[in-house]
Amino acid sequence: MSNVAEKISGGCLCGEVRFKVPVSPTIQTLCFCSDCQKISGSSSYCAYLIPLDQLVLIKGLPLSFTVKSDAGRNNCRKFCGNCGSRLWAELEFGLASVNGMAFDEKRFFNPTHNHRLENAPDWCRVDKELETLS
Ligand SMILES: [Zn+2]
Ligand SMILES: [Zn+2]
Repeated sequence: MSNVAEKISGGCLCGEVRFKVPVSPTIQTLCFCSDCQKISGSSSYCAYLIPLDQLVLIKGLPLSFTVKSDAGRNNCRKFCGNCGSRLWAELEFGLASVNGMAFDEKRFFNPTHNHRLENAPDWCRVDKELETLS
């Protein structure tokens, strides 16, 4: 039985879209893929991965844009239509890659892996202690 109090709450900048996710993610990565860079405007995206069916939409309805990743998989990227904040991406295999920086309490995001590290810009100081996912 899942208790709402045990979930992490988050949302977009304007507050139109709100969600909750479980406190035990499948994996937490910094994703340096070019799609994540383009959309986030940063060197990496804080990807908090959970099973998609554990993501609870509390308020609002995000817009989405589906793009094929470098690996050839469909990523349906969700964002607020009002303020443009990135919220999560729905990946194949039933996973959601939630934006850890959209959490109300950012301490819940603690990356354990780097993903697509070879794509990090030269100026970026990466944490080499994290495990690398290719
Ligand atoms: Zn918004
Ligand atoms: Zn990515």
